[in-house]
Amino acid sequence: MSIEQEPQLAEAAGQAAEPDSSAAVCLFRSLADPTRLRILLHLALGEHRVVDLTEHVGLAQSTTSTHLACLRDCGLVQARTVGRSSVYSLAVATELMDLLSAAERVLAATGDAVTLCPQIDHTGETHDDPTISRFSQGRS
Ligand SMILES: [Zn+2]
Repeated sequence: MSIEQEPQLAEAAGQAAEPDSSAAVCLFRSLADPTRLRILLHLALGEHRVVDLTEHVGLAQSTTSTHLACLRDCGLVQARTVGRSSVYSLAVATELMDLLSAAERVLAATGDAVTLCPQIDHTGETHDDPTISRFSQGRS
């Protein structure tokens, strides 16, 4: 038999059985992890090789890879192979930024104004790095 989600588990979770709401819950769960949110906000600045992303967000490479795999499973990021590296980027950048802007408005309205703006997490770093631009062009 193939590995599938057990129906009993969905039933046990009560209201969570509706496909739409569980997809939304899944989405927000992926965004709820501070590390994943940080990775997503950083990828909003442009695509990154794992090694660069690891360095820029200051995480262990294994941690970064684990979270990237999770985000890729959720369809939030995509990867392509360049040489021997995987280059990650946001799969739905516009929609995700819309979502984060909406989140900012909600937070502002609820009095917990924070800025999810990518630049915040990115002081003193430039992405005019020719290495990254070269990846963006797709050829050297
Ligand atoms: Zn960066």
